[in-house]
Amino acid sequence: LLFDLNNFAEVNDRFGRAMADALLVEVAARLRRSTRESDGIARLEGGEFAIIATRDIRPDQIRSLAKQIVDAMCAPFLIEKREIYCRVSIGIALAPADGLDTNQLLRCVDTALYRAKTPGAGSIQFFSPGDDEAAARRHALARDLPSALANDQLWLAFQPFLDLGSDRIRGFEALLRWQHPTLGPIPPSEFISIAEETGLIHAIGHWVVKTACLAAARWPRDLRVSVNLSVMQLKNKALLDGIVAALAEAGLEPRRLEVEITETVLISNFEETISLLQSLSSLSVTVALDDFGTGYSSLTYLRKLPLSRLKIDRSFVQDMLADADCAAIVRSLIELAHELRIEVTAEGVETLHQLDYLRRVGCDEAQGYLIGKPDRIDDIPGIAAK
Ligand code: C2E
Ligand code: CA
Ligand code: CA
Ligand code: CA
Repeated sequence: LLFDLNNFAEVNDRFGRAMADALLVEVAARLRRSTRESDGIARLEGGEFAIIATRDIRPDQIRSLAKQIVDAMCAPFLIEKREIYCRVSIGIALAPADGLDTNQLLRCVDTALYRAKTPGAGSIQFFSPGDDEAAARRHALARDLPSALANDQLWLAFQPFLDLGSDRIRGFEALLRWQHPTLGPIPPSEFISIAEETGLIHAIGHWVVKTACLAAARWPRDLRVSVNLSVMQLKNKALLDGIVAALAEAGLEPRRLEVEITETVLISNFEETISLLQSLSSLSVTVALDDFGTGYSSLTYLRKLPLSRLKIDRSFVQDMLADADCAAIVRSLIELAHELRIEVTAEGVETLHQLDYLRRVGCDEAQGYLIGKPDRIDDIPGIAAK
């Protein structure tokens, strides 16, 4: 741990060296009392101390040690009849996780302390070399995402839905892909949140809807196309107009477009979302509730939303053959949905056993690697050209 008495220089300037040194002696005494005897304490320059805790400690234990030290410094110091209050910061690095050699550990703990001293940060900060890499990558992605659209780095993969009654492909879900020029393929799980934070999700989301509609307009038969809408998109007043414009531009019948939303959006703005979804369904655009069963699934949603489809999350499909309770949930969900005239699609179907089971319990559609992985549409036989 690297401990810093933030106002050491201030005390030194205002009250002189002797007072500052007396304060350091008191600080050292409190450090000693709030640590164990086996912990090493060394005075560095200025108001800095290094504390080496050589016990076998977990990050949460080391945090509570740091907390103890911060608390110990809260009470004012009484030096030459003056009450002095101190602000302190602590940076932490862990061996061997953050580095095996002293130099690397020192760099980490130094950065941790630097961050602990920045206004607004907590007074206790950890730092690992990996933090920097992750932050740097996120920073690079946030920097490059705005030009990704303009430079044709985004593309849509399409994953088929299989109708379990007729054994025919009923349509495809559009899944966004980013081919970064130097970092390679970036998964949506990584960049959608960046797009949301930077507000780019609206432009990107509109591109997705437009591109998906244009693709579907070229497909044979009545194949449906589904697009995913995230929470932020659903809060945007321009979304509805964007969808209407995309449909018109592509000349796609609205009933061939489906939007997929997750429960998270319903928690924060239920009423607004309902009215948006109602507008969409009055245009004949259908609505699917995605990842069903993973969030705070409420039966209210099924009753109040204009839903055409429930997508049972992959985790249920994965476990249903090994876990009787899970199978019971899947069966009952299908039954309940059907009573409410809602179709059911099972996500993440990877084996024939799963497919057979879903067929037996009356599931309407299946989606998953067994049926087809998300792919470029011109690679899907029979769909490429009209
Ligand atoms: P999601 O909508 O639940 O999409 C299903 C995810 O599961 C996809 O991951 C798909 O590639 C993967 N998957 C499909 N079948 C299987 C299977 O059999 N086994 C396994 N293990 N995985 C399977 P992907 O493409 O990485 O997308 C992740 C999430 O990113 C999506 O989850 C969706 O929430 C979001 N997303 C994707 N495209 C868009 C988009 O255009 N807009 C928004 N807002 N979100 C998007
Ligand atoms: Ca989806
Ligand atoms: Ca899903
Ligand atoms: Ca999912």
